Amino acid sequence: MKTKSKKIVIGNMKMHGSLDFNESYFKSLKQKLSLFNELSITLCVPYPYLFQAQKILMGSNIHWGCQNVAKELEGPFTGEVSASMIKDFQCELVIVGHSERNTAYCESDENIAEKFNMIKKNNMTPLLCVGENLIEREAGIMEKVVSEQIKTILDLYGQDIFKGSIIAYEPIWAIGSDSAASPEQIEKMCEFIKQLIYSNVTDNDDVNIVYGGSVNAKNAVQLCEINGVDGILMGRASLDVNEFYEICNSIHKI
Ligand code: PEP
Repeated sequence: MKTKSKKIVIGNMKMHGSLDFNESYFKSLKQKLSLFNELSITLCVPYPYLFQAQKILMGSNIHWGCQNVAKELEGPFTGEVSASMIKDFQCELVIVGHSERNTAYCESDENIAEKFNMIKKNNMTPLLCVGENLIEREAGIMEKVVSEQIKTILDLYGQDIFKGSIIAYEPIWAIGSDSAASPEQIEKMCEFIKQLIYSNVTDNDDVNIVYGGSVNAKNAVQLCEINGVDGILMGRASLDVNEFYEICNSIHKI
């Protein structure tokens, strides 16, 4: 779904939306973002609206994805949604390891690794979120934290699993806040992640890194121009069609 030359733009609706809201939101995005074929655009919707997203976004340049998936394929797992179920709705990308889930539902690195594997096995793109909290940053252990998050997957499934996947560097302290991480902090972490992955992955050109955390129309260009950044993941900004458009419009020529 993504070629290395295309900047990646991913919107995360989180737990927002309704049939009514989505009807005009999806249609407006479809129409306004149709200009940006140089971008790889994906919108991660809540499960109940996958069918609606598929129906409206089908045939557009916007892909649709989910925000989580079960680590099992089927069985007695009340409330869970499997990879094959979301695949039925042509879901192409799945967020895994988002810090909001890790905090609220105590997801372990092993759990996240199993979900990552399940997404790959079902031919979808995993978007793995990694990042440190403020205490970890202030203690200077952010690289250790991120390395543990990534290494669990490498140790369990080996190098090749990262081919074609996306890693989102999302410092937890920058999510939902007033300001994004600095270009220096982002560049350093991207370089660290790329080295960690590249020393383990043979086809090293096939892993993408995006930045997430308070992306908006004002900072999108600067963020996308950082060395090692292949695109952006946005929460709040993606819910506003005009802001989404402005972001795409500002970065589509980079
Ligand atoms: C996120 O939660 O992944 C995120 C990037 O949120 P926001 O853009 O609102 O900071």
